[in-house]
Amino acid sequence: MKDFDFVIIGGGCAGLSLAYELETNNKLKNKTLAIIEPRNDYKKDKTWSFWKTFPHNFEDCVKKNWKHFSINVPQKTKHLKCNNYPYQSIDSGLFYEKINNRLKENKNISFLKNDQNINFDNSLVFNSVPNLNNQNNGLWQHFCGVHFFYTLPYSKRTALVETTWLSEMNDDSQKDYDQQIKEYIENNLKIKDYKITYKEVGAIPLFYPIIGQVKNTINIGTAGGMTRLSTGYTFLNIQEQSKYISENIKNISKLKTFQIKKKYQFLDNIFLRVLKNNPSKMPNIFFRMFNNKSNTVIKFLSNRSNFFEDLSIILKMPKWIFIKALFKLNDQN
Ligand SMILES: Cc1cc2nc3c(=O)[nH]c(=O)nc-3n(C[C@H](O)[C@H](O)[C@H](O)COP(=O)(O)OP(=O)(O)OC[C@H]3O[C@@H](n4cnc5c(N)ncnc54)[C@H](O)[C@@H]3O)c2cc1C
Repeated sequence: MKDFDFVIIGGGCAGLSLAYELETNNKLKNKTLAIIEPRNDYKKDKTWSFWKTFPHNFEDCVKKNWKHFSINVPQKTKHLKCNNYPYQSIDSGLFYEKINNRLKENKNISFLKNDQNINFDNSLVFNSVPNLNNQNNGLWQHFCGVHFFYTLPYSKRTALVETTWLSEMNDDSQKDYDQQIKEYIENNLKIKDYKITYKEVGAIPLFYPIIGQVKNTINIGTAGGMTRLSTGYTFLNIQEQSKYISENIKNISKLKTFQIKKKYQFLDNIFLRVLKNNPSKMPNIFFRMFNNKSNTVIKFLSNRSNFFEDLSIILKMPKWIFIKALFKLNDQN
């Protein structure tokens, strides 16, 4: 059995972001780190997109920046600018390559496929593997309830088109993603001559995974509650969490756990209750949110809004269904 100062379970977005943050800030000097990751090789499997509301370590992995975007619901379109907070897409293939190349230079970092030969007794463990099996009735955001499409144009001839559902994932007909994408490209984007060169599939839990407190273990990434429940955005929260852990690594086990602010957890839970009970009203509710200044909405959706900006978002929402959700006046909740 081998001892390590630090063990990271899961070398995905959160595990690697944390390892990179520790390594580049010299926090692994004279320390040993094991990263447990079962995958055999890293290849591009996701595209992480977000409004860049603060600087991060992966500017060189950004595939594209956008300074404007549009929200479309039947018969209505809103064009919005985001000069202050450009929308960015990170190529996970470049992200994995950059981090792994850097980590490989440190001989005190071990990459392991499983935890069989590790003695955890004296390690500080960072766990990014949630156990989601027993939490079936929460909502999921799943890709290739509420259905929307998401198009990121990378150039005149290439785009990422996503079919996205917010649902409990118990209706298999929603999972006919290929057909949904085909119909959207042909009927809405009006493109008949196209080729699919890359596919990504996945699901984001829109609930916080229940993980019991384990001694000397800190949960990170999705497992550590870094997903904004109303949007699925997680990437920048992971970067913030990694920075917090790295800056405080010496006494991290005694400090408060890094969390998305409570006000967002509270508001997102109400929002999801509204969504569950009124799926047909959601397109218009999303649209109304964008009746605010784009900076206000972006800051709200990226956990960086102040009290007045929160208020401005709340005041644009239909009052009665949100009040009902607040007091849990609807059926099963
Ligand atoms: C398809 C998809 C698209 C997304 N797009 C966005 C986006 O645009 N913007 C955004 O902000 N967020 C997005 N997210 C949400 C979030 O950013 C990602 O899910 C992100 O990868 C979460 O990081 P993580 O480290 O928590 O999980 P992961 O990146 O999934 O990492 C977990 C790692 O644990 C490994 N693992 C699994 N089982 C074990 C085990 N038993 N022991 C050890 N390791 C194990 C896995 O192989 C994996 O590498 C997306 C999610 C998905 C699924």
